Amino acid sequence: MTGPEGFRFADDPLADPVFATARAESAAAVCRGVTKTYRTATESVTALADVTLTIPRARVTVVVGPSGSGKSSLLRLLACIDRPDTGEVLIAGERVDRLRARARRRLRQRQVAYLFQRPGENLLPYLDAVAQIRLAGRLRGAAVTDADALALLDRLGLAGRADHRPAQLSGGEQQRLAVACGVVGSPALVVADEPTAELDTAAAERVIAAMEDLSPAGVGFVLSSHDPRVMAIADGFVRLDHGRLVEW
Ligand code: ADP
Ligand code: MG
Repeated sequence: MTGPEGFRFADDPLADPVFATARAESAAAVCRGVTKTYRTATESVTALADVTLTIPRARVTVVVGPSGSGKSSLLRLLACIDRPDTGEVLIAGERVDRLRARARRRLRQRQVAYLFQRPGENLLPYLDAVAQIRLAGRLRGAAVTDADALALLDRLGLAGRADHRPAQLSGGEQQRLAVACGVVGSPALVVADEPTAELDTAAAERVIAAMEDLSPAGVGFVLSSHDPRVMAIADGFVRLDHGRLVEW
């Protein structure tokens, strides 16, 4: 054990102390009546219109819909990168739409990981894999040892890459490392906007498998994707069309 928020994988991931604070049945995130409109000099585009949904913990939720339907806008709100015009966004039970910038940043740091599409953008160029994980944990207030980081790398098939910096990793390895950094320290939510779009098939499959493997421990994954392999691991879907949630 490395403290209440340290992590260690047991055979049963649900018994893992790293996720001890995450009740599997509680919501990672909730949106209620969320609207988001972008205004430019010449036009205004409603990207999200009255969206109400729940993103559960310990599940993979995939956001689908045609290009321009509002997927990225929704994920930015969930990741606390952006704020809704109206409506409520709750992360781990806390209203983020009302928080001032600093409090929102603190909540985001503790409870949310955001994965960029480009693997390299998720990592710091000068840190090796173990150090990336330890830093990600520390930023969430979790004491993560080298052994903890190695156990997580091993679980994701990256044990042999422990002392490699991002430039020494393939895109797929970088993205799996980013997934590891995303879950360490038990955030409520890992948000990934088309996380496999830049990867070849084999690499994409391993990234998806990593998410599938780690989600039961308590983190809610929410991904947007057109990739049928990503859809195949979904526990639930959110379908958007012109910014509206489509029932199906
Ligand atoms: P998706 O990810 O499903 O392709 P987006 O959320 O990126 O959809 O975009 C939804 C709509 O909002 C689109 O019509 C898009 O052009 C518009 N949009 C997104 N971001 C901005 C922005 N920063 N400024 C103006 N319009 C935007
Ligand atoms: Mg998008």
